[in-house]
Amino acid sequence: MIVLSKLLDEIYSINPQARLIAVSKNVTSKEVLELFSQGQIEYGENRVQELAKKQSELKDLGLKWHMIGRLQSNKINQLIALKPTLWQSCDSFEKALEVDKRLNFKLDTLLQINSANEDSKQGVLEGVAKEIYLKINEQCSNINLVGVMSIGSHSDDWREVTKSFETTYKIYKSLEKDGAKICSMGMSSDYELALKSGSNMLRIGSMLYI
Ligand SMILES: *Cc1c(COP(=O)(O)O)cnc(C)c1O
Repeated sequence: MIVLSKLLDEIYSINPQARLIAVSKNVTSKEVLELFSQGQIEYGENRVQELAKKQSELKDLGLKWHMIGRLQSNKINQLIALKPTLWQSCDSFEKALEVDKRLNFKLDTLLQINSANEDSKQGVLEGVAKEIYLKINEQCSNINLVGVMSIGSHSDDWREVTKSFETTYKIYKSLEKDGAKICSMGMSSDYELALKSGSNMLRIGSMLYI
């Protein structure tokens, strides 16, 4: 298990405002408990089932849970019932509508952007991201958009990865006047590049547990 304060020192030296979300999708509640004992409050899961399980196992700790994975239609009700702190992976206008229809409270949400234009990735493409963001803002009264999320380019070339982060950051900046406050990008392999490109929310998993 990592010494969390060391990682946080490094993160804050680049952006003192950045928030770390510890991704717990590949570990158990035991590891979450260990990170909690080092002060970590916010966690990310990519499956609703697993989010529900850990949230219930650790319910007395006051943890904050983020949904970061693809949301299947048949899991929407369950996710809403869990009242996540942030739904980071709203990946289309249609999905936003579908969730909005069933919400009876305002759900903080990020629009996921496929900034590297990769077939394997969820999210809206760069060229339509702003338009879709504004359309969700206008038509989905219970989807409270507070920013954008993106997974960096899968490339080994750091310039390609940086380019994808810069694309996301540009969209984020253009939406600040429309309420965007969170630019969620950066994982274990690329969090430094992401921070240097303007990220203020990291989603880091694997490197925490070695
Ligand atoms: C798994 C995952 C992460 C964390 O990735 P690591 O490489 O384990 O740090 C971040 N974001 C999303 C959407 C993920 O699915």
